[in-house]
Amino acid sequence: MAKKKKVLITGGAGFLGSHLCDRFLKEGYDVIAMDNLITGSLENIEHLFKREDFVFYHHDVSKFVHVPGDLDYILHFASPASPIDYLKMPIQTLKVGSLGTHNLLGLAKAKNARILIASTSEVYGDPLVHPQTEDYWGNVNPVGPRGVYDEAKRFQEAITMAYHTFHGLETRIIRIFNTYGPRMRLDDGRVLPAFISQALRGEDLTCFGDGSQTRSFCYVDDLVEGIYRLLLSDYPHPVNIGNPDEITIKQFGEEIIKLTNANQKLIFKPLPTDDPKQRKPDTTKAREILGWEPKYSRAEGLKPTLEYFKNKVLK
Ligand code: NAD
Ligand code: UDP
Repeated sequence: MAKKKKVLITGGAGFLGSHLCDRFLKEGYDVIAMDNLITGSLENIEHLFKREDFVFYHHDVSKFVHVPGDLDYILHFASPASPIDYLKMPIQTLKVGSLGTHNLLGLAKAKNARILIASTSEVYGDPLVHPQTEDYWGNVNPVGPRGVYDEAKRFQEAITMAYHTFHGLETRIIRIFNTYGPRMRLDDGRVLPAFISQALRGEDLTCFGDGSQTRSFCYVDDLVEGIYRLLLSDYPHPVNIGNPDEITIKQFGEEIIKLTNANQKLIFKPLPTDDPKQRKPDTTKAREILGWEPKYSRAEGLKPTLEYFKNKVLK
C-alpha cells in the first residue's frame, strides 16, 4: 500500500485553515494543524481531535518551527486576516508574513516538501487595473494602516519566489479574494459577518463610505477546491482564486437585509483609510491552468453561512 501523504496546515484552527484540515483528511492525508490561536479557535477543529490521522500543535510559526518525521506538503495560512485583526496586531502580522514564511520555507527545504502560501488580493492594494490580473503589480501604500498586511503578503510572495528560483523549492502562491462561509468569526469586522450579525441582532447595518466600493465574494468550498488543485498542479507563479461576481457594498447590505427578513436599514460610517474602491478577480489563469471555476452563487453560499451565524447569534 502506498504511504499516506502528510500535510502541515498553519493557521489550521482558523476559518480557512479548518476547512482545509477537513478537505485533506477527506482526501486521505495525515494532517498536522499548527496555530497559536490569536484569531482562530479550537472550536473549528474540535470535531477532529479524536482522529488518529489528525494532530494539533499550539505554536507561533514566527518562532522556529519543528515538525518530527516526514512532510510532503505545507500550506501556510497563519496570519491575522481581517482588517480589524491586523490593525490590532500590526507587528504580529508583519512577523508571520515575513519571519513565519521564512521558517516554513526553511522547513519545506529541510523536508523536501512542497509549500503553498496564502497570499491575497490585497497585494493589488487599491487597484488601478480592473478586474485584477496576476501580472498587475498593484497600488499599495506601504506606510498606511493596511500596509502591515499588504506588505507582509508581498514580502511573502517575494521570498517564496526566491526559494523557488534559488533553491529549486516546489512552491505555489495563491492570491485569495474575499471568501466567506461557516466558521468565520462573528466579530472579525469583515463585512459579511458584520452585516449578517447586525441583521440577526436587529441592529442597523454599518455601511462604510457611500457603499459604492465593490467586492466579489467566493464561497469557502470553491476556494478550498482551488487551493487543492493549485497545490497538486506544477504551476509556481501566483494564481487568483475568487468569485468574479462583483457587487457594491451597499447592494450587498440590501441583499442581506432581504435575505434575513430584517427591518433594519443601512447606516453610513466613514470609509476606513486606503479601503480599496473596487475588487474583482480575473480568473482566466485558474480556469486555464487548474480547470477551476466557482460553482456556488452568492445565494447558494449564503444559505449555509446564514444557518451557521444564526446558531452563533441566537445561542
Ligand atoms: P483566520 O483569522 O480565521 O485564520 C488565521 C489563523 O492563523 C488563525 O487561526 C490564527 O490564530 C492563526 N495565526 C495567526 N498568526 C499565527 C502565528 N504567528 N502562528 C500560528 N498561527 C497563527 O483567517 P482566515 O480568513 O482563515 O485566513 C487564513 C489565511 O488566508 C491568512 O493567511 C489570510 O491572509 C489568507 N486570506 C484570507 C482571505 C479571506 O477572505 N478569508 C482572503 C485573502 C487571504
Ligand atoms: N465594510 C462595511 N461595513 C462593515 C465592514 C466592512 O461597509 O461593517 C466595508 C469595508 O469598508 C470594505 C468592504 O466592506 O469596503 C469589505 O470589507 P472587509 O473588511 O470585509 O474586507 P476587505 O476586502 O476590505 O479586506
